[in-house]
Amino acid sequence: MLLAHSNWRAYEIARDEVIHAEADMVRLADSVAAFQKTLIDRTAQQLHILGGISPSENNNSAACDKFLARQLEIFPPFDNLAFAEANGAVTCSARSNTIPLPSLLPGASSPDKPLLLSLGSDELALALPRKSIQGRAEGWVIAMLPVAAFFQANSQGAVFSLVHDGGLVAAYPAKNAKDSRNPLFIKFMRALRPPMATPLAIQDGTDWLYAAQVKGSAKELWLLARLPTDAATGQLMRMAALMAMTISLAGLSIWVLCSQASAYLAAINWRRFDLATKVEHAVATLHKRLRQMQWNKAQPSEGSNTELHVAYQKLKHSFADEAERMRQITLLDELSQALQGCIDSTELTELIAHSAVALFPGSSGALLLNATSDVVELHHAWGGSIHQEAFPPQDCWALRIGHPYHAQQAGAVSCAHLREKHADYICLPLIANSEILGVLHLSRLGENTIESGIPWAAESIAERTAIAISVIRRAEQLQIRATRDALTGIYNRRFMEEALAIEQSRSERRSSSIGLMMVDVDYFKGFNDTFGHDAGDAVLRGIGQLLRRTMREGDMPCRYGGEEFAVILPGADLAQTHQRAEAIRTAIERWEPQQEGHSFGQVTVSIGIAALPLNGNSWQAALKVADEALYAAKRGGRNQVTAPA
Ligand code: GH3
Ligand code: MG
Ligand code: MG
Repeated sequence: MLLAHSNWRAYEIARDEVIHAEADMVRLADSVAAFQKTLIDRTAQQLHILGGISPSENNNSAACDKFLARQLEIFPPFDNLAFAEANGAVTCSARSNTIPLPSLLPGASSPDKPLLLSLGSDELALALPRKSIQGRAEGWVIAMLPVAAFFQANSQGAVFSLVHDGGLVAAYPAKNAKDSRNPLFIKFMRALRPPMATPLAIQDGTDWLYAAQVKGSAKELWLLARLPTDAATGQLMRMAALMAMTISLAGLSIWVLCSQASAYLAAINWRRFDLATKVEHAVATLHKRLRQMQWNKAQPSEGSNTELHVAYQKLKHSFADEAERMRQITLLDELSQALQGCIDSTELTELIAHSAVALFPGSSGALLLNATSDVVELHHAWGGSIHQEAFPPQDCWALRIGHPYHAQQAGAVSCAHLREKHADYICLPLIANSEILGVLHLSRLGENTIESGIPWAAESIAERTAIAISVIRRAEQLQIRATRDALTGIYNRRFMEEALAIEQSRSERRSSSIGLMMVDVDYFKGFNDTFGHDAGDAVLRGIGQLLRRTMREGDMPCRYGGEEFAVILPGADLAQTHQRAEAIRTAIERWEPQQEGHSFGQVTVSIGIAALPLNGNSWQAALKVADEALYAAKRGGRNQVTAPA
């Protein structure tokens, strides 16, 4: 009796344990399904962003390959990532073993929905059209996905297939594809119509067949699973049904466009599989556990209890990792989008600092940018990170080796640009279009990095930063080209006119004055004739530098044209303008221009001045008055400053 009682108690304990674990799995599946909704939207966005960045445009194939290889780390379920032209020809890819994409890619497709293309029995491709700003389809962003990633059903000899309208769309394992076309499957599926709300199971000789309609599919799509009978007894059948439901809940929301030899599927919720796989794996563990327990005999052992517990804990951890990863992907997506709207490097710096701290709470860092090829400058530091203000590139290990440098892994050899030596930091070179732009320094990332090396999120943020910096620099260069004079480097006439219009309305609001100078080089034609045009150019450049040096901050020297310069002095009245003009005149008079040791003698200028609103009610009128004063200075014998009469 006693023996029977203790056996019965052991049976009850084991049974309760399994029931609890099973309930946990169901809860887990539910939360997975809810979590995945946001996850899918995020991932779709990620491909859109990838299409938007598209470094294949600059024809640097190697850099593009590398860029995609990095992106692949963010998409672990995929085999490969590639950019292709509109006709499907691959231009660059993360891995070289690119499966040739057929001319399957349709000419017209929605630019917002990824297409799923079946590339034979064991490989699928997801293709998202890339569109130009005008909305024209320019090419494709493609992700390769192994069919196995769909199902990942490596347990109990199960065969999985997706069936649409009696035709096989995909099967796992591939070698069983023929088997899945078993007429009984088809008959079975037909018998299930009208659609059933819950998954069903029937026995077919020595196998059990399970079917679940894929929810959310616009057309009828079924997931079929075949399990050997010995794996599917009593309770196990419920488990398999739960598994099918989980896949349906968490997985295959597919829209079948047509099912021919190569099927086009669209709007697939692909990122879900990663998690569905984990739930499936957990269910498989329960399967195994149930079999070990041999229900009727009820002989639980301590070892198998521990095994179940460990499997469950592992699962919980992997979900926590996945959640953290998704949090980081979300932050990086937000950063990418914000960076697209970024107009200058100050905004960019703030965004990077903010994102770095959000990605790695408690971390500090700095953005160090190449000022020239020999000097790196501290652009911005946050969280108490202290660096040299300027240093040569060789003071940073990341710039020396051209790769991310992790001090922890390298045995705590610190970079020389750090003011405080410490080991817990990473320097990531910022490289875009094969050009080194600077370094992203991140420190105090926490314990994780010590164990697992450079976090992918750190590399990812560096990549995005580099792209954004290169875009902003290009815009700044264009801006400089549009507002500066090529010979002297000071503002051009177009800029002068725009600046005068702005300054005029500002001075009207503040009732303040604007000083104006017109500066003309004396006898410059003669100078050119004597010393040559190149010497003349050197003199004009020299005067440009001199004007910049003698001006106060806020004053604007401009090249008006030829050998004439205009200077805007916001806030200056006529008397102050006269003083400044006299200073310029004497500085030029004292200057001895020379080239390669050869002196050209003295150069002088005549200057006419005026003030707004004293000498006119518009900047055009005041400038005319200054010009007339300049002619008076010329008539008066040159090398002098003249105010309006
Ligand atoms: P004035 O004292 O009356 O101003 O005499 P000037 O010789 O300076 O005046 P003029 O207008 O007769 O000649 C201006 C000369 O400036 C003619 C032109 O060759 C020269 N010049 C204009 N732009 C440039 C330039 O970009 N480079 C060089 N080297 N010379 C220039
Ligand atoms: Mg002139
Ligand atoms: Mg002149």
